[in-house]
Amino acid sequence: MYDFAIIGGGIVGLSTAWQLKKRHPDASIVLLEKEDAVARHQTGRNSGVIHAGIYYTPGSLKATLCREGVDRTIEFCRDNDVPFDQCGKLIVAADESEIDRLDALYERAHDNGLDLELLDDDGLRALEPNVTGVKALLSPRTGIVDYPGMCRAMARLFQADGGELRLGTAVTRLLESESRVEIRTNTGAFLETRYLVACGGLMADRLADMLGAGKGFGIVPYRGEYYRLPEERSNLVRHLIYPVPDPTLPFLGVHITPMIDGSITVGPSALQGWKREGYGKRNVSLRDTLSLLTYSGFWRLSVKHRKAGIREIRDAMSRRRYLRKLTKYCPSLTKKDLLPHPTGVRAMAVDPQGNMIDDFLFAETPRSLHVCNAPSPAATSAIPIGRLICEKIESQ
Ligand SMILES: Cc1cc2nc3c(=O)[nH]c(=O)nc-3n(C[C@H](O)[C@H](O)[C@H](O)COP(=O)(O)OP(=O)(O)OC[C@H]3O[C@@H](n4cnc5c(N)ncnc54)[C@H](O)[C@@H]3O)c2cc1C
Repeated sequence: MYDFAIIGGGIVGLSTAWQLKKRHPDASIVLLEKEDAVARHQTGRNSGVIHAGIYYTPGSLKATLCREGVDRTIEFCRDNDVPFDQCGKLIVAADESEIDRLDALYERAHDNGLDLELLDDDGLRALEPNVTGVKALLSPRTGIVDYPGMCRAMARLFQADGGELRLGTAVTRLLESESRVEIRTNTGAFLETRYLVACGGLMADRLADMLGAGKGFGIVPYRGEYYRLPEERSNLVRHLIYPVPDPTLPFLGVHITPMIDGSITVGPSALQGWKREGYGKRNVSLRDTLSLLTYSGFWRLSVKHRKAGIREIRDAMSRRRYLRKLTKYCPSLTKKDLLPHPTGVRAMAVDPQGNMIDDFLFAETPRSLHVCNAPSPAATSAIPIGRLICEKIESQ
């Protein structure tokens, strides 16, 4: 009988396990991960950005935990020798028509307690000679980091304190009674815990459903495809370069992102995924497709955002079209600069009415807590999310 069992070796599960063990050194804690290494899904296949917290609704969990997350992430990386670089981000208005939205973003950032700097075209050119635009916002707090490296460090700290990490162990069934939660796994192992925390990312709804906590949302997977620029282009930009976002779908748009390994990526897109943890272009899962097609939220969401959806498909099908969006900011890029790069899949929690659930979302049963929605910037916010989960458990 464990005191706590945590499902999921992504950054949210590991941050929770590491902090829970630190706060309760005598508790027996096990973390169960179905893959043979940590950070194999969203955490290891993302843009690697430490987001500053510009876009989010003031007062939301996303806004408050992201702001705190920046400092906690940097502190953790310094203490544990994980590479990071607070290189800053520029949000660029390509022409006059985008200036009002850029100014609105400046106000939103201010409401979120962030001091951004407004630059004119000369100011932009002085910072990034290869980028063109009429006005830009500089976010000096934004950075880049090695998230899988953070996960490995958290796993080491958790194990050094006596925590147990079981890789290659998929949870297949959960059963809650008054005194415990029983856990069945693919290895045939049968575990019991006094309290369970599920941080299953793309599988969050299925784990929550096992204990009847999955009402009110379903996971809709979105493929995020990237390009990588060739090595000789690795000095093209020093900051992250983002377009002014569509306020309703702020994660869309062509992002130019220096990575912590020295390369530069462009992307990600947001294409419908037909396999939750499938990264190849033609990956389809019958089970995942059926659960999408039988979920009202999926159909309503698809109708609501059909124009953006079609745009994303057309951009993915035509490199020339994609390049046109890119050269609006970075005119020197050409088609042969767009090399393949591994894809990621986002877990988007959607309610039955077809609304994307914007904020981080948790559900509880008497003996379990489920992280139902942890989209971007949950990697940035993972340390405060883990702290919040510990506090929720302790308050029970
Ligand atoms: C394309 C893309 C770009 C992004 N860019 C950024 C960014 O730049 N900055 C940022 O802050 N955020 C970003 N995000 C979001 C961020 O990556 C996620 O919010 C974060 O990684 C979520 O972490 P997690 O631990 O909840 O999920 P995951 O990393 O997906 O981990 C969940 C884990 O649970 C395991 N699991 C699931 N079911 C079971 C089971 N039954 N038994 C055992 N184990 C199980 C999985 O194998 C997996 O390892 C991005 C996401 C994507 C997809």
